[in-house]
Amino acid sequence: MSFFNTDKPFLIAGPCSAESQEQVLETAAGLAPLNIHLFRAGVWKPRTRPGSFEGYGAEALSWLQEAKRQYGIKFTVEVAEPAHIELALSYGADVLWIGARTTVNPFQVQKLADALRGTNVPVMVKNPVNPDIELWMGAIERFEKVGIEDVAAIHRGFSGYSSSVGYRNQPNWPIPIELKRRLPELAIICDPSHITGSRSLIAEVAQKAMDMHFDGLMIETHPNPDEAMSDAKQQITPARLGEILANLIVRTESTSDMSSQVQLEYLRQLMDAVDAEVIDLLAKRLEISSQIGEVKKVCNMTAYQPARWREIVAVTTDRAEKHNLSPEFIVGLYEKIHHESIRRQLTILGTTEEEIKK
Ligand code: PEP
Ligand code: MN
Repeated sequence: MSFFNTDKPFLIAGPCSAESQEQVLETAAGLAPLNIHLFRAGVWKPRTRPGSFEGYGAEALSWLQEAKRQYGIKFTVEVAEPAHIELALSYGADVLWIGARTTVNPFQVQKLADALRGTNVPVMVKNPVNPDIELWMGAIERFEKVGIEDVAAIHRGFSGYSSSVGYRNQPNWPIPIELKRRLPELAIICDPSHITGSRSLIAEVAQKAMDMHFDGLMIETHPNPDEAMSDAKQQITPARLGEILANLIVRTESTSDMSSQVQLEYLRQLMDAVDAEVIDLLAKRLEISSQIGEVKKVCNMTAYQPARWREIVAVTTDRAEKHNLSPEFIVGLYEKIHHESIRRQLTILGTTEEEIKK
């Protein structure tokens, strides 16, 4: 059982930055009744521009240690240097997290992984600032390779010049979903605070994460959000977090409700039957494609014909619209089908499988 696969959702809360012992203790006191799994606070802050508040470092670690002693809540801090790791662990940090600006740099991530070799301290890896799933996975793998057994991912959105959805960072949901598809055992925690950048939008993104099967939430909380020394606009009070959690619909993959189970079983049988038909029809379509390939071979025609592809797009999107299906979806599907068709015809024209893959 992984450290992060506890009761869902795995909850992390606490201020963006540890600002004083009073602020840390007051936040912890507010969070204690909410049964969160981890208290978070930045003690070394990776600020975009110089001159901003950069955290209180080791001194702040002693405040977190005290909060842990008084309230029994485990704590996590962001580390970006091997020296941070050493200090954080010496003050009893239970979990470490890697910030978005660090995940982008494989040299730095490797240094951190090397510093953690042999410790088996749980590590959470935030997505890199750029929407690159390979870079995110690469960082996760570097920690796994040095023997860290409990690694989790944190989705905090991706930066862009401006966000199309009015958030501070674009969620790009398909990326964390693809990560979950590739690494089903990996816990993925959503950070609605850094995605939205705005306290009024945190509840809706937290719910979306639950709807999408995320394993947990990391939400910035501060006793006086407006006075926060960093990320003031996106922090909420522990009381507000309590309200959000009380209203959160936590979704599960299965249900114990018998009548819903029966209904689902029935609908899935219908769906399976449709899938069987879809596959049979695809096989039929590809068989026709092979026959076309034979004709093209005799007449020295090309496998790929742009005009024919445009015709397929026009005809299929037209039909899709009649069924209220999104044209993008249908064109995406047909790109794949057409690609397979061309591959078959190329083989008939004499190109080998290996050549097609090159
Ligand atoms: C943070 O969690 O306060 C933080 C700096 O986050 P990120 O690395 O996602 O910007
Ligand atoms: Mn922050």
